[in-house]
Parts: sequence; structure tokens; C-alpha cells
Amino acid sequence: MYEGDIASVLLTEQQISDKVAELAKQVGEDYQTKASAGDLVLVGVLKGAVMFMTDFARALPMPAQLEFMAVTSYGSSTSSSGVVRILKDLDRDIAGRDVLILEDIIDSGLTLSWLLRNLAGRQPASLEVCTLLRKPEASKIDVPVRYVGFDIPDEFVVGYGLDYAERYRDLPYIGTLQPTVYSS
Ligand code: 5GP
Ligand code: MG
Ligand code: MG
Repeated sequence: MYEGDIASVLLTEQQISDKVAELAKQVGEDYQTKASAGDLVLVGVLKGAVMFMTDFARALPMPAQLEFMAVTSYGSSTSSSGVVRILKDLDRDIAGRDVLILEDIIDSGLTLSWLLRNLAGRQPASLEVCTLLRKPEASKIDVPVRYVGFDIPDEFVVGYGLDYAERYRDLPYIGTLQPTVYSS
């Protein structure tokens, strides 16, 4: 699949699945004793977080409800501007609930920073972030991220939900693209 397009495999299917299990176990331990009403609410940001969300929810040793948001940030296809518009909002009220945002990747952190402010305004009982990947840029911006799967180098990656021009989301691993893919 996509033969010839992938330059290198950064994270294998096994490495991803081990990490998802580890994160889910940690979250399960941390939220076991939470007293808020109702199940934990997982908020996945479409489309990139879909694979992570579904694997994470199944690995989580406690009940969770799945919510999705779709946002668009104005900017080029490979960087974001921090100006965000909601394309699809949550289906339910999160007031008084424990909410965990699941992200595929944090680069500048601008999208996430906006999302945190937006969701915090809805008065959840708690609001935390779990990201599978984090790039070095993310440390420059002050966004509280409680759970991080992998810190990765500043390279554009695809697979496991992450796309380039809507392709490669369906790859089961995470890798970098051949330069020829960008120029064609
Ligand atoms: P941020 O607002 O943190 O700069 O960017 C977040 C979004 O940019 C991610 O949710 C993702 O859609 C996109 N993005 C950032 N880095 C990468 C990358 O290396 N690969 C892909 N496919 N998307 C990325
Ligand atoms: Mg994302
Ligand atoms: Mg994208």
C-alpha cells in the first residue's frame, strides 16, 4: 500500500499499540477515583484523531463516551494559524463532566489552545489533553498537555489518522513521505 511514497517508518503498528495501551492504563488509573457525574467524555478532533480515539477507547479499562469535533484552522495545509472555526460541534453538553481531549499531534499547539479555551467555557468538571504525538514546537506554547504518547522530531508525518492531502490516514503505522510526493 502506498508503495514508494514512504521514506521511513517512524513508529510501527506495534509501537503505537503498546503506547495506546500504556496511555489508556494510565488514564484509567487517574480517573478511577474521580467523583464527577457520568462516564468520562472523550473528545476526538476529526479527522486525525479517529484511529487513536477508537483504539484508545477500546483499551481504556473504564466506560467512556465518544464525542467528536471538527474544526478548521485557517492557514496553509502544513501549518496552522490559530484562527479556528467549528465545522462540527459536540452533540452533548459537557457541563459537570470529566472531559479528555484526544489529539493526533500537537505542533504549534494553536488549534489545541483555542479548543481548550472553547471547551473550558462550557464548565466541564475537568478538562485534560492526551496526544499521541508531540513536536518540538509544542513546548514553546503554554498548553497544558497531561498525556503524551511520543515526542517526535520536527518532520511531517503521515499514517494512523494523519494525512497529506487526505491520503495516508489509513496506514496502520506512522512514517515520513518521500520528497517526490510533495512535488508531484
Ligand atoms: P497545530 O495547531 O498544533 O500546529 O497543528 C495541529 C494540526 O496540524 C494537527 O491536528 C494536524 O492536523 C496538523 N499537523 C501538524 N503536524 C503534522 C504532521 O506532521 N503531519 C500531519 N499529517 N499533520 C500535521
Ligand atoms: Mg488534530
Ligand atoms: Mg491534515
